[in-house]
Amino acid sequence: MSRPKFIVKRQEKVSKHLFCAICDEIFWKPKVITCGHVFCKHCIEQWSKIEKTCPVCRRRFDLKAANNHLLAAHMAGEVKVLCNFEGCSWSGQMDDLTRHLQICLYKPEKLSALCSGQETLTPMSLFTKLKEKCVQIVKSIYEPIQEQDLECSPS
Ligand SMILES: [Zn+2]
Ligand SMILES: [Zn+2]
Ligand SMILES: [Zn+2]
Repeated sequence: MSRPKFIVKRQEKVSKHLFCAICDEIFWKPKVITCGHVFCKHCIEQWSKIEKTCPVCRRRFDLKAANNHLLAAHMAGEVKVLCNFEGCSWSGQMDDLTRHLQICLYKPEKLSALCSGQETLTPMSLFTKLKEKCVQIVKSIYEPIQEQDLECSPS
């Protein structure tokens, strides 16, 4: 699974120790290497293809000896973040973000399915809330078609 965007809530204080020195973002699946430094799994895997020394302390490390860092994973997972999609007011723990992103109604694909009526299980209140966005989307779906129709119709 690819990494979602972590948009940290503004008032939220996040320890600098939860940031990866390679990507400068909050740890995602952190791994600890032999010198004790922690990085995202993906980051340190990429790094080890080019360098065999730790990006922080320059000590040699062996990626095969790297372990998952559960404490860092748990602490990063507790950071409060916002939804990636514009208009959505969801906020919650980083651990719950990926689950939310799958079901978020503000996800562009979901939203356009919903607005064009392909998604039927929609509470009316939600539709009203999304109406403005729907109008934009429905316009962008139907306007090009109407223009084509006009061109084709004999006048
Ligand atoms: Zn990283
Ligand atoms: Zn190190
Ligand atoms: Zn959302």
